[in-house]
Amino acid sequence: MPMESSNNANNAVYTSIWKIRDSIQSLEDLKNQIIDFLDIQNQIDASNTELWITDVKELYYNIVAAWEMLSAVSRGNLTFGHACSLFIETAKSRLEQVVSELQVFKDKTIQIEPQLRTIFNNCVNSISSELNILLPDLTMIKSPLKGINDAESSFEFTCSVCGEPAIVFFVGPYPFSSEKEPCLIYRGITRESYGSLEDSNILLALLENGKVADIHSYVIDLDFMEDGLDAYCPSCDAIYCQNHYITKEYWDQGFYDYTEGTCPEGHT
Ligand SMILES: [Zn+2]
Ligand SMILES: [Zn+2]
Repeated sequence: MPMESSNNANNAVYTSIWKIRDSIQSLEDLKNQIIDFLDIQNQIDASNTELWITDVKELYYNIVAAWEMLSAVSRGNLTFGHACSLFIETAKSRLEQVVSELQVFKDKTIQIEPQLRTIFNNCVNSISSELNILLPDLTMIKSPLKGINDAESSFEFTCSVCGEPAIVFFVGPYPFSSEKEPCLIYRGITRESYGSLEDSNILLALLENGKVADIHSYVIDLDFMEDGLDAYCPSCDAIYCQNHYITKEYWDQGFYDYTEGTCPEGHT
């Protein structure tokens, strides 16, 4: 590619990334409006008001962080792409939480919800589409379920669509104790869970056999695993990554309710 046209292409990317700031500005304005609203109402107690204001701020700052990661990617730091997606996922989670909180005020906030969703989606869609342009296209590669790669005593499952790492089991330090004793860690697409080393013995045997369906039905009964493998679609008998298993969280008045996943084949 001649130098000049490559510069033009770069300039076009910089311009559109810069323009996303307009949507982010609208989100900031609405964030401030919501905070002002929460500040003056007296339907919920002061400590709740403070928490809910924090949720609105987190929603906004995760979008700002995603935009900053996107700018880093556009300057050639492709490794920031993953962080960008993670900030977007966290922002989506905060959005559902904030909406569930605003619903407590019913008719007073009825116009805010669609407005917030529209502005939020503008931000997310433009960040995601620029990110897709900048990152190498992985979604076109169709590959069969690769199963598990055993590397450094971790078991990783890759996405059946793009082959990217989706979920992983590994032994690592328990983060919530001062001793940081070793435990079994599951890092899924929607959560991280911690089990005891005893839990891991049968599981490791199953992981070595590599049948995802067996692993899924075994871990469903483990206390720390809640609903099994969050990236697994039983109908497809396949694992999908965060980009290919679309998850939506449901919240009730600021409290997490459940998450529903939809696989690329449309199973929920
Ligand atoms: Zn994928
Ligand atoms: Zn499916």
